[in-house]
Amino acid sequence: MELCIIGSGYVGLVTGACFAEVGHSVICVDNDQRKVDMLQAGKIPIYEPGLEELVMRNVAANRLRFTNSIQEGVDGSQVIFIAVPTPPQPDGSVDMTFIERVAREIASALKPGQYRVVVDKSTVPVKTGERVAATIQRYNKEASFDVVSNPEFLREGCAVPDLMKPDRIVIGCGSERATDLMKRVYEPFMAPILVTDINSAELIKHAANSFLSLKISYINAVSAICEASGADVEMVADGIGMDRRIGRQFLNAGLGYGGSCFPKDVKAFIAIAEEIGVPFGLLKEVERINESQLERFLRKMRDGLWVLKDKKIAVWGLTFKPDTDDVRNSVPIELINRLVNEGASVTAYDPKGMEKAREWNLIPDSVKLSATPLEAIDGAEALVIATEWKDFANQNLNDVRKRMHTPLVFDGRNLFDPQTMKDLGFIYYGVGRAAAK
Ligand code: NAD
Repeated sequence: MELCIIGSGYVGLVTGACFAEVGHSVICVDNDQRKVDMLQAGKIPIYEPGLEELVMRNVAANRLRFTNSIQEGVDGSQVIFIAVPTPPQPDGSVDMTFIERVAREIASALKPGQYRVVVDKSTVPVKTGERVAATIQRYNKEASFDVVSNPEFLREGCAVPDLMKPDRIVIGCGSERATDLMKRVYEPFMAPILVTDINSAELIKHAANSFLSLKISYINAVSAICEASGADVEMVADGIGMDRRIGRQFLNAGLGYGGSCFPKDVKAFIAIAEEIGVPFGLLKEVERINESQLERFLRKMRDGLWVLKDKKIAVWGLTFKPDTDDVRNSVPIELINRLVNEGASVTAYDPKGMEKAREWNLIPDSVKLSATPLEAIDGAEALVIATEWKDFANQNLNDVRKRMHTPLVFDGRNLFDPQTMKDLGFIYYGVGRAAAK
């Protein structure tokens, strides 16, 4: 099929490449000329495992191309996916300007008698589909189209496998014709398809991300009780997670959830619920627990180092999770800024996130970025594990200890075993477990 994706970021580009991989002919549109130039020159603007090969292969096979023109995308495609940002506004509600603008642009690009399916893949508040349909109609009275909600559930860091083998595909749609076309789009993926009305599909996405955030906050709240009572949160999580009704995933205590989705989606769901008159207090508690994780971690650092001012602190990890270069709304970045504000001298290393952290001015200029994890810890009075990259777990810990001034480790991701660290001569602080000194 001929498909168009508007917005070629983490969702749009990976979706476009995966659609092309299964044989569709895909045109990816973006209004960021720099991004389009890079993609046309064979450069991938984001890091996602497996993405580069996928893009190259499908560009070479003429199944994937890039443009800055929505008109070109709409002209040649039966189905048009919208994958533009839906960032939070200061009050937590969703900024819909990107979606509204794209809806107007699609309206002006649609030609009379040309039927198109307009699919919203961005994460949007319930009832957005109705708004998109009304907007297209308002700006083009002769347009022939249906609107579909098809939320995306990919995880950054494993977006390609998530898209190629999804747990489920949600198609929110009120038209049989559009539903049939959508089923054809997804047929090659051989995944379970759930067809719903548009409002339910939109709600599924916010409800799913809020539930996952809730699971993280739940184990983080349990981690605080573990710390106060001498229990070990990893053992508790294993014990809970072995119950198939609960599952072990998303039960990792740490610095709290971050990134470009969970914080904004929880905020959005709270705002949506409030707007329609059914306040969702539980989610406010999820947020409160999440924010308190970093505070508790900083208290632990002050406990270990007494005073942070003038301390040389190495931080491993800038990205909000491993296997991505995404540093948007990253808790490690927030942590670094807090440490610098308290007067610490910070050296950091991340396998993929350093370039964007610098380019987007997310960390103070005083933060030194190192070429390797070991270089970052030279002479450090403390090491913080802020992101659980495999690369960090694989370091030779004897070398780590020798290069540090003081063998103090604050592990914000419980990457290491406390007893092993103690045996190796470290003073080790994890999350939700007793310090090993
Ligand atoms: P992104 O910022 O990486 O990409 C969005 C792209 O849209 C950018 O390249 C931007 O230049 C482009 N764009 C903006 N306005 C445009 C316009 N008028 N015309 C053409 N292009 C335009 O964002 P993302 O992370 O891909 O997220 C997109 C949506 O998908 C959001 O609603 C997000 O919540 C949702 N989502 C994200 C993820 C994730 O892990 N990143 C997962 C599931 C859902």
